[in-house]
Amino acid sequence: MPSFDDFGFLPPILDALAVEGYVTPTPIQVQAIPHAMAGRDLCGIAQTGTGKTAAFALPILHRLAVRPRPTRRGACRVLVLSPTRELASQIADSFTAYGRGLPLSTAVVFGGVPFGAQQRRLASGVDILVATPGRLLDLIDRRALVLSEVEILVLDEADRMLDLGFIHALKRIARLLPPQRQTLLFSATMPRSIAALAEDYLADPVRVAVAPAATTVERVEQSVIFVPNERKRDLLTALLDNPSFERVLVFTRTKHGADRVTRHLVGAGIDAAAIHGNKSQPQRERALAGFRNGNGRVLVATDIAARGIDVEGVSHVINFELPNVPEDYVHRIGRTARAGAAGMAVAFCSDDERPYLRSIEKLTTLSVPVVPMPSALRHGNGGGEDRVERAAASPGARSGAASQSVTRQRAPGQRTPSQRAIEPVRQKARRPEGGTSGVTERGNTRRDATRRDPGSSLPAFLLGREQSHSRAAASRRGAPQRKRTPAI
Ligand code: AMP
Repeated sequence: MPSFDDFGFLPPILDALAVEGYVTPTPIQVQAIPHAMAGRDLCGIAQTGTGKTAAFALPILHRLAVRPRPTRRGACRVLVLSPTRELASQIADSFTAYGRGLPLSTAVVFGGVPFGAQQRRLASGVDILVATPGRLLDLIDRRALVLSEVEILVLDEADRMLDLGFIHALKRIARLLPPQRQTLLFSATMPRSIAALAEDYLADPVRVAVAPAATTVERVEQSVIFVPNERKRDLLTALLDNPSFERVLVFTRTKHGADRVTRHLVGAGIDAAAIHGNKSQPQRERALAGFRNGNGRVLVATDIAARGIDVEGVSHVINFELPNVPEDYVHRIGRTARAGAAGMAVAFCSDDERPYLRSIEKLTTLSVPVVPMPSALRHGNGGGEDRVERAAASPGARSGAASQSVTRQRAPGQRTPSQRAIEPVRQKARRPEGGTSGVTERGNTRRDATRRDPGSSLPAFLLGREQSHSRAAASRRGAPQRKRTPAI
């Protein structure tokens, strides 16, 4: 079994890993770290929550520490670009935690907060700078920062960084970077068009992929409930009546939608806060902190929170509205089942969202199993009710109904894409020595997905988790809490 000792890390890094409680490297770490340590450019494709951050942060810390250099005024040795402020903070926290025993400095800069403190922090230079692209360029324009000393560039969530929203900022940033540098790209998804663009930033890169791009997180039990738009709020409160929905992320497509859902939940006496682009940075930080420390049970978010946010013990992700970009679905559900824990993702799908569901199923090559509306809500819910009732009434309702649209034209005995996708995993799961625990769990959860709780109209898997969240459990056992890199 691979061990962190195999990589040749400096002792303070190994000590920090021991404090974090990391015993074995994750697959993306096993594959990426040796190349990153050797100074190679790298394109890493891995699902969210698989340890991508450590896969780049650990070799970077090692490489900086073995070649110490004084920081220059307004300069940084490593630049990590992130699409969102929250992810930027989180990455900086990871560098601080893994580098706690090294004489290296980390800073994070993003928009929505005053410039003053950031400019002062950069004045003496930093070793590692984590930034969102817009604020980075603003600081460069204010002559508070130069990129001429950058030795290593990291693009996290690279597909998002390279898409239309950021590509112009990124091109400007790239022109200011020394051509002689190491570049590391990490992403959970990599559409082909973006992959071609990514090549422009890499020199003779190694490509490592621990799972095919856009594979959904293996341990997330997914389901979809067909429900008319006007019944979605009732459905949400009905699900949240169940205490097994301990820490719940609810995704909407729009900021106003997030506010509406939050108001509804608060009105129903449920602890909920919203996080989206119209909120001020302090509001965003408060909402996330409340959710993180367990004060808030529900966080309602737009896709701003879909990427990279690592909150311990998210038990359920509810897609109140399906995303129109199928990759976003992968990122959203990746907020649960992190770091080896189990998790559930429930999608609410109205008639007009069916094309989105089809795109998601096409991208992930899986049929999302259908579950019925809770019986208390079934009366008077219009067109959705009939479909749900039919789905519930048929034997093997969930998988059968889920694959209806896909299997209708198939010959008897012919397997659906989702059956084909699941089958090898099931075979592996049956072999005691077969694969990782993640694979075994996936096999189990798929089987469990069809079990029903006799006292409820909802399948058992929606009612409670069978595995504890390892990190949540660890924190209850008194594992060390991460020190937060002060936002400047
Ligand atoms: P990431 O994909 O970087 O967001 O990481 C997801 C979670 O996995 C974070 O909470 C990390 O602290 C945790 N993690 C990363 N590497 C390991 C490891 N080797 N062992 C245990 N947990 C890890």
